[in-house]
Amino acid sequence: MAVINRLLIRRSSISSSAFYALFTRSFTSLNSGASTSTTTTTTSASSVSYGALGLWKENKGRNIHAVFLGCPGVGKGTYASRLSNVLGVPHIATGDLVREELASSGPLALKLSEIVNQGQLVPDNVIFNLLSKRLEAGESKGESGFILDGFPRTIRQAEILEGMIEIDLVVNLRLREDALIAKCLGRRICSQCGGNFNVACIDIKGENGRPGIYMAPLLPPPNCESKLITRPDDKEEIVKERLRIYNEMSRPVEQFYRSRGKLLEFDLPGGIPESWPKLLQALNLNNYKDEQSADA
Ligand SMILES: [Zn+2]
Repeated sequence: MAVINRLLIRRSSISSSAFYALFTRSFTSLNSGASTSTTTTTTSASSVSYGALGLWKENKGRNIHAVFLGCPGVGKGTYASRLSNVLGVPHIATGDLVREELASSGPLALKLSEIVNQGQLVPDNVIFNLLSKRLEAGESKGESGFILDGFPRTIRQAEILEGMIEIDLVVNLRLREDALIAKCLGRRICSQCGGNFNVACIDIKGENGRPGIYMAPLLPPPNCESKLITRPDDKEEIVKERLRIYNEMSRPVEQFYRSRGKLLEFDLPGGIPESWPKLLQALNLNNYKDEQSADA
């Protein structure tokens, strides 16, 4: 772990293959059964000083290593991307890495397209390979720190990652399931310009102490209206299946980080206009609010 951290802090000239060898070594030692079980001791998430996020680099000598967790469709990419602008660290979405590799003529592209075409999950070693290449490319450009989005997805991936690099903060975005399903079913894409919209107006009243939630629709401009299409995988049974898989495979990842005192639970109070300022507040980054709205 220390070795990897040093590599990331220093702009070393280590080759991609040597970097990957370090990842592979951690990967193999886990495969050989060193420690695959997870302890589930519950401690309070107090060891991460969120207030220091804005001064992370000054305090720690490197930028933050953060992870965004949350159900598919919750908006991880949106919030991770915004936070990456605030903190000045790259937003690395493993889904993007896979798509980029598929579009390239890189050594993994052929193998990947076989896997994806057969509808199989991309194996851990391939994901780790892509991730290490991405981190190394960023490092050579002077990047430090990251916000990971879409990774780790399983306990096994979280364990391997933990053995390779220190993760400082994990933000778990939560949205009640009825709102999440309505949001996924409301997604529309313009078949002409590719614009993303959402026709769902979510307005759930609070009851029995549970807060209500309001999410305004994101309606298309008039010239897109007649060209809206629904992605084939935004059907109710497929959305529910994605949630089932998330609950089975990824929910334990939350506990993995909770037990290590790294998890920040964040209940989305609504759409982006309501949620973004509150997320900054939860991270003690209020002073960035003005800067952001000035940009907008
Ligand atoms: Zn359009």
